[in-house]
Amino acid sequence: MTTVAIAGSTGSVGTQTLQVVAAQPDRYRVVALAAGSRVDELVDQIIAVRPEVVALADESRLDELRQRLPVGVKTEILAGSSALSDIAGVADVTINAVVGFAGLPVTLGCLAAGKRLALANKESLIAAGPVVQSVRNTPGAELVPVDSEHAAIHQCLRAGRGATDVDRLQITASGGPFRGRTAAELASVTIDEALAHPTWSMGPKITIDSSTLMNKGLEVIEANELFGARAGTAGVGIDLERIEVVVHPQSIVHSMVTFTDGSTIAQLSRPDMRLPIAYALAYPDRFPTPFGAIDWSSVGRLDFEPPDRQGFPCLDLAYEAGRVGGTAPAWLSAANEVAVEAFLDGRISWADIPAIIAATMDTHDGQHADHIDAVLDSDAKARRYAGSIVGGNPSPSGVV
Ligand code: NAD
Ligand code: MG
Repeated sequence: MTTVAIAGSTGSVGTQTLQVVAAQPDRYRVVALAAGSRVDELVDQIIAVRPEVVALADESRLDELRQRLPVGVKTEILAGSSALSDIAGVADVTINAVVGFAGLPVTLGCLAAGKRLALANKESLIAAGPVVQSVRNTPGAELVPVDSEHAAIHQCLRAGRGATDVDRLQITASGGPFRGRTAAELASVTIDEALAHPTWSMGPKITIDSSTLMNKGLEVIEANELFGARAGTAGVGIDLERIEVVVHPQSIVHSMVTFTDGSTIAQLSRPDMRLPIAYALAYPDRFPTPFGAIDWSSVGRLDFEPPDRQGFPCLDLAYEAGRVGGTAPAWLSAANEVAVEAFLDGRISWADIPAIIAATMDTHDGQHADHIDAVLDSDAKARRYAGSIVGGNPSPSGVV
């Protein structure tokens, strides 16, 4: 029996993780849940899985949560900003499905406890790369990606082991809802259009990131941290320039690895997050699941094209932050969170998002990211600067 903790259990990845676990009741037991503020969903989950401990980030809703639980529920309830770290190391596997920089305590806490981290929360790895790399060396600690592209690369690298060296990684992108649009058309897109992803159903932040291609840019930095030279012996020694993005609108090929002999290995499945979630929970085994298999007679064609770098400047902003390294990715990710929140609030237009990130990156102070304090400081400074441009009342980094 593998014990599982789910941080961000009420979100898109979190609820799909509960489905994967429920399909394998003899293999997995959920011992901990954590959520931001959605008490209704959390109460239902507690009643269904009876975890030992639950963390609620939004302390102001603690009383409401306690009152809503039926008599006889023995689950320990923790609340507040430190509660996430408290649940991070309690299970054999922790899935980090929190959205944004707020997921950092889960990433660090789980790895520092020497446990397996199934990582969906890319923002923590991107913002705190060097700090995460050092806790990744904790005896017993293991980082298995859940992001579908990185789960694909993880599988391709396993398949190609012993063949030849890795030459490059190709991360596939659906292109989002605005693929093929002209600059004039992009200037007037609406919130609803940006939220209508053509192939994946996901939470609002990553859906907007997909519409701007910032999600792909963040995934390039994520791949560099997971598999590149920055990952040391855990990686395959390639640099950022060898991590490429290719647009593939059908979202069937989830990413590829090209080896130095010219051979490319790809991973293909239906676009269903339950497959990479199941993979990260079961690794190095594979258990039968009904989620990913393709009916090849109905696939038709698979298309590939280069990304539109002019229309979607967030991609190159992310490459640049990855090249600079240090705290630059933390600034990028924080500025992006502020801009996306402002767009979803109707305070700025979609086309303002890259401009706000670029302006914030111009103020990056070049700090190294070798200590958590530097990462927290960078996140706060970038958020303050981006917040001063968008106005309104941007939330602090502990998004709920
Ligand atoms: P979501 O918005 O649907 O859910 C986010 C979850 O985080 C919710 O449970 C929310 O309560 C919780 N949360 C927010 N702030 C919190 C805090 N301060 N403390 C504790 N919990 C908090 O988001 P999602 O789409 O499930 O994405 C989660 C992460 O997974 C993101 O980093 C995203 O980039 C990544 N990801 C998602 C998908 C997908 O298909 N949804 C695919 C790949 C990667
Ligand atoms: Mg992805």
